[in-house]
Amino acid sequence: MTTPAADMPLSLTRLTEDESLLRASVREFAEARVRPLVREMDEHAKFPRTLLDELFKLGVMGIEIPEKFGGSGGRFFHSVLAVEELSRVDPSVGVLVDVQNTLVINALIRWGNPEQQARLLPRLAQKSVGAYALSEAASGSDAFGLQARAREDGDSWVLTGRKLWITNANEADLFIVFATVNPEAGYRGISAFLVERGMAGFSVGKKEDKLGIRASSTCELLLEDCRVPKANVLGEIGKGYKVAIETLNEGRIGIGAQMVGLAVGALDCMIKYTKERKQFGKAIADFQGVQFQIARIATEIEAARLLVYNSARLRDQGQPFLTEAAMGKIFSSEVAERAASLAVNLYGGYGFVKDYPVEKYYRDAKIGQIYEGTSNLQLQTIAKQILG
Ligand SMILES: Cc1cc2nc3c(=O)[nH]c(=O)nc-3n(C[C@H](O)[C@H](O)[C@H](O)COP(=O)(O)OP(=O)(O)OC[C@H]3O[C@@H](n4cnc5c(N)ncnc54)[C@H](O)[C@@H]3O)c2cc1C
Repeated sequence: MTTPAADMPLSLTRLTEDESLLRASVREFAEARVRPLVREMDEHAKFPRTLLDELFKLGVMGIEIPEKFGGSGGRFFHSVLAVEELSRVDPSVGVLVDVQNTLVINALIRWGNPEQQARLLPRLAQKSVGAYALSEAASGSDAFGLQARAREDGDSWVLTGRKLWITNANEADLFIVFATVNPEAGYRGISAFLVERGMAGFSVGKKEDKLGIRASSTCELLLEDCRVPKANVLGEIGKGYKVAIETLNEGRIGIGAQMVGLAVGALDCMIKYTKERKQFGKAIADFQGVQFQIARIATEIEAARLLVYNSARLRDQGQPFLTEAAMGKIFSSEVAERAASLAVNLYGGYGFVKDYPVEKYYRDAKIGQIYEGTSNLQLQTIAKQILG
């Protein structure tokens, strides 16, 4: 093997020592601690609290939190690796960790003032789950058409309105909530608030009964004259749109990682199963028709991973990554759907029943094309960048 010249860029998938160590420890955890719970969590649509505690202990709930605040002091790329490895086994666990790191902690590190960081980052690293509340019933893709209001009152802001589809809502005790201080000002009225469970006027409402990622809680939030101290404004009043845009631009790289992990999980299953299952006197993996289908999806997964890793590495190097991240999300979510669908096909009738893991990957894959910007919105971003 030749030694690369010092100035030669490394391949995207070649990991540094700390990246390799993180991936190995998360992979081992996912196999040993998550895999045995997958079916039960899907059926009961719930994570056991013990699993959350173990994720904190593993260090994946505070990956980019500096060590002085009790976090792992890692980079964005480490979050991508953790989300990929967890999603390979259970994309619900993947999104829990993704929202915590790529949205909530990311926003606090970038926009939180020193007092907020010192108060909240140690909690997020050790025991608190975070959630990110932008969407409402009437504003999804058009996120800045939101209706939740914030009214100034003495040393507080008083929030009223409802948020919908909020991931981690059942487990979280810290919520980044977006509301407008002036609907007439359009996006310039939007502001971000740090709402804590237990604040008067705040409650978590109905939990959605979903097609996929069922263990991940998705709930409504009710803000009924919820009084938030001014110390809990994240960033500046009227600049919440920047908080939202910048965190979501990065967050979608994490969803790309979730979808790559899911696709790899489906690929693992089909490789194993087709070598075991015999028809016409031989393993179905011996048929060239089956081999070619697996070879093609493996190629697509590799391409999706390269897109996702590239945008994560660009982000960590302070380079523009918007187009690459949007391409990574749309492509990886489509590949995940195709991989899961092929896995179901190759399992035959067994692919259609819950005794085998692949029908769940198929249900879980669909969300990748919906949240953190639907596929059409990703295409809109890409088109705007390349067409001007
Ligand atoms: C399981 C789950 C978890 C979620 N978690 C969170 C969360 O934690 N926090 C949060 O804030 N939100 C969350 N969401 C909300 C999610 O981000 C929205 O559902 C998503 O942005 C789409 O919004 P919508 O559902 O209102 O669909 P709509 O915006 O109504 O879109 C419907 C369809 O119209 C298309 N469309 C809309 N506008 C255009 C356009 N201009 N051009 C072309 N096509 C267009 C869309 O692509 C889509 O196909 C979650 C949703 C789900 C289902």
